[in-house]
Amino acid sequence: MDMVVRTNRAPNAGETLMGQAFALSPGGKGANQAVAAARLGAEVSMIGSVGKDTFGSEMLEIIKQEGIHIEHISVSETEATGVASIVIEEDGENRIIVVSGANMELSAEDIQMLAPVIQQAKLIVLQLEMDLAMTEQAVAIAHGYGIPIILNPAPARRLKDEMLSQVTYLTPNETEAGILAGMTVDSIETAEQAARILLQKGVKNVIVTLGAKGTLLVNAEGTKLVPGFPVKAIDTVAAGDSFNGALAQQLVSGKSLEEALRFANAVGALAVGKAGAIPSLPYLPEVENFIK
Ligand code: ATP
Repeated sequence: MDMVVRTNRAPNAGETLMGQAFALSPGGKGANQAVAAARLGAEVSMIGSVGKDTFGSEMLEIIKQEGIHIEHISVSETEATGVASIVIEEDGENRIIVVSGANMELSAEDIQMLAPVIQQAKLIVLQLEMDLAMTEQAVAIAHGYGIPIILNPAPARRLKDEMLSQVTYLTPNETEAGILAGMTVDSIETAEQAARILLQKGVKNVIVTLGAKGTLLVNAEGTKLVPGFPVKAIDTVAAGDSFNGALAQQLVSGKSLEEALRFANAVGALAVGKAGAIPSLPYLPEVENFIK
């Protein structure tokens, strides 16, 4: 659950400010990406965990209403539902602290039990807000079945080469690409250099999201900049998530990678044009109209 505070500017250390507004908004990378894909027409099953609390039951209800299968979301007896504390400044810039709570309870053993569920998928999408050993195991299971994997490496952290070598589509933003590759990424050139380092580690396709500039695809065939769609940014929360959900939906529906990236850029642009995480995620007709 996102707890969103709007303010003219973020406070400095030790400073207290009066903010402009507060809202609770359903979110979380996994939920956002699942809803993004579902709203575009994909059949989505979600694996995760919520707490036995108000936020947990609200999140389950919201996700269910989006037509997402929730049978594999467990309810923790001891841990609270994951929350994100989000501060949004006047210019749309955001600062976020995530507390994973119940999500951290899902273990590598738990995911192994769900291998038959993963086996049925056409594609799986993962982020780094859950237990890393569990995430590594999920990647290994999907890879073992030959199922394509989108890994959105957010929030950023270093990952083992073994895990990276099993990833079909790695979708870092510039900061995450820098952390994964161990260098500074602040331009298209350095994004490409970082992506090449990650390709050497065995990732099949590195897709660096570049905010308004769009997306840089780097793979064995070369490098391609897929330009973004110009929009007025209202709130960049869930830009990356909407992008990942859209990419998944497009790939599952048989689109080429470049077509999928163009479409996902459009979805990202639509999401930054609206406030909130899940509330900002577009439905298919809106994207089709926008892309025309
Ligand atoms: P966030 O953490 O804010 O959700 P991110 O840092 O993970 O986002 P970005 O690279 O900012 O990811 O955005 C993902 C995609 O969304 C971009 O590749 C682009 O297609 C689209 N996008 C983001 N910001 C803008 C913008 N200001 N204008 C148009 N498109 C945007």
